Amino acid sequence: MIHIKNVTKSFGDIKVLDRVSLNIRKGTIFGLVGRSGTGKSTLLRCINGIETYDTGSVIVDGVDVKSLKNKEVREFRKNIGMIFQNFSLLERMTVYENIALPLKCWKYKRSFIDHRVKELAEIVELGGKLDAKPKELSGGQKQRVAIARAIAMDPKILLCDEATSALDPKTAQSVTTLLNQINKDFGITILVVTHQMSVLQSCCEEIAILEDGAIAEVGNIEDIFLQQPNALINLIGQKDL
Ligand code: ATP
Ligand code: MG
Repeated sequence: MIHIKNVTKSFGDIKVLDRVSLNIRKGTIFGLVGRSGTGKSTLLRCINGIETYDTGSVIVDGVDVKSLKNKEVREFRKNIGMIFQNFSLLERMTVYENIALPLKCWKYKRSFIDHRVKELAEIVELGGKLDAKPKELSGGQKQRVAIARAIAMDPKILLCDEATSALDPKTAQSVTTLLNQINKDFGITILVVTHQMSVLQSCCEEIAILEDGAIAEVGNIEDIFLQQPNALINLIGQKDL
């Protein structure tokens, strides 16, 4: 679903991504870990076309991201949802309005939007909170709104950038369970950037470790842990194992 080949990216003199190659299979949940500043968010932005890269290729669902013309970018991004650590909700809008945002941008009919928003709110178990403002919600509830908004357009891919990092372990686990459910029910391919071992363990079939902009390890989490325990412990910390 996502094929990254030899991608290199520099900001000025600093090489942020160094010949990164990754294959993320359709329908899987893939984990990406690495120290702060190793280029994880930059790589996610290269996948959805927000960031350009210098060399290499990123092919998403058969589309070469670099080949996209201006007017094709919008259609391309429709297929990729994204969620962040800080939820990125619009504070002055209600839960309903936040979830409806992408549907309004795509000018769907009001009746369709209404039906879809209510359906999404049920999926993320916030059917009773549609009129609430973000400040009235817990962190976990805010992230559920962000997830509902991210999957509103029925994307093929969901990119999660530290989506559970601001949450306590139990809430993080419930959001991880929701990601698992979305992956299973809708077949959405999910790429998860995280520092939490519990998140990797409970949802990722495969993981990659990014070190100084390059892929240091890729594979099944148990295999990496057995072969390179220090690689993961150094990144995630013993306490979370
Ligand atoms: P974190 O875990 O802290 O979120 P990260 O792995 O996501 O880190 P990135 O945000 O991808 O790291 O940043 C990688 C490097 O690229 C950092 O050194 C950062 O300062 C630099 N960088 C990112 N975006 C830009 C930009 N727009 N202009 C210049 N440098 C940038
Ligand atoms: Mg980041």
